[in-house]
Amino acid sequence: MEKQTLLQYLKEILGEENVVENKPLKNHTYTKLGGEADFFVTPVTYEQVQQVVKLANKIDIKFTLLGNGSNLIIRDGGIRGIVMYLGKLNKVTVSDTTITAQSGSLIADVSKQALKSHLTGLEFACGIPGSVGGALFMNAGAYGGEIKDVLTNAKVVTIDGELKTVLADHLDLTYRSSNIPDNGYIVLEGEFALKEGDYDGIKAVMDDLTFKRESKQPLEYPTCGSVFKRPKGYFAGKLIQDSHLQGKQIGGAEVSRKHAGFIINKDNATASEYISLIKHVQQVVKEKYGVQLEREVRIIGEDLS
Ligand SMILES: Cc1cc2nc3c(=O)[nH]c(=O)nc-3n(C[C@H](O)[C@H](O)[C@H](O)COP(=O)(O)OP(=O)(O)OC[C@H]3O[C@@H](n4cnc5c(N)ncnc54)[C@H](O)[C@@H]3O)c2cc1C
Repeated sequence: MEKQTLLQYLKEILGEENVVENKPLKNHTYTKLGGEADFFVTPVTYEQVQQVVKLANKIDIKFTLLGNGSNLIIRDGGIRGIVMYLGKLNKVTVSDTTITAQSGSLIADVSKQALKSHLTGLEFACGIPGSVGGALFMNAGAYGGEIKDVLTNAKVVTIDGELKTVLADHLDLTYRSSNIPDNGYIVLEGEFALKEGDYDGIKAVMDDLTFKRESKQPLEYPTCGSVFKRPKGYFAGKLIQDSHLQGKQIGGAEVSRKHAGFIINKDNATASEYISLIKHVQQVVKEKYGVQLEREVRIIGEDLS
């Protein structure tokens, strides 16, 4: 299909203001890396999400979902086809001890909403910078809590563009993983079952976790958070620290001196430099300790041609 025809179809589905051609993606990722999206669409209704999926299927065009970009590295050549950003679907509602949050709302904001409503269970998420969709996809977690502990079900769009409600037990939520990518689900909302709690107690826990995060993580630089998953029996940060890799730079990317598990975009790094540094860290740790570090961060898109 001609680019102009596709653009026209997308504008008919989403409205002129919700479709952008050749959209730079740098500012949609926490690492501030990456090229452009051919077509960047921001649906405002569930029906629009379904229609875009059906259109992409019909004309067989590549389709990529973007949450809050806090666990993604986009390569320098950008992303071909359609990139869908769900940030405008961001309603959060509270009913009794249940919170229902649309996928584009931030999990940290949902956690703050829980605090306001005197509900306990989401304190662990107060500093995780992802969207609800991204948090379910990754089974995000911190300081002993994870999405799995509080999620009851999710509303999703299937690869055929149909709406479906899936019980949390059917999402295979395990350490930083779910079956959402394998099923090709687009998460539209998550429902969280919390418990009544004491405002001051919940706030004290959140303040403590925020202090821990801010004092240990290099949040002053663009970064994707922990680059690697925790290897069984080890800590990725400790292995990297003991390999004397802190401060190691490739181009503008550097292994953080503050937290060895983080790689920072210190000085206008390219995605290619950042990814080379990830591979270098994996190689050195493997050579020294025989441990294969598995990436937590996802790398998508194309290299520059
Ligand atoms: C400073 C910092 C600290 C962090 N701390 C933590 C932490 O403590 N614990 C933790 O678990 N993570 C942490 N992270 C990582 C990250 O915040 C989480 O993995 C988060 O869940 C990613 O959500 P996102 O919306 O940013 O997803 P994105 O990075 O935008 O996307 C990640 C993946 O999710 C998919 N996705 C996004 N939205 C949807 C949707 N609606 N439906 C289906 N798939 C979707 C995308 O296609 C992509 O493959 C941290 C990151 C940073 C930068």
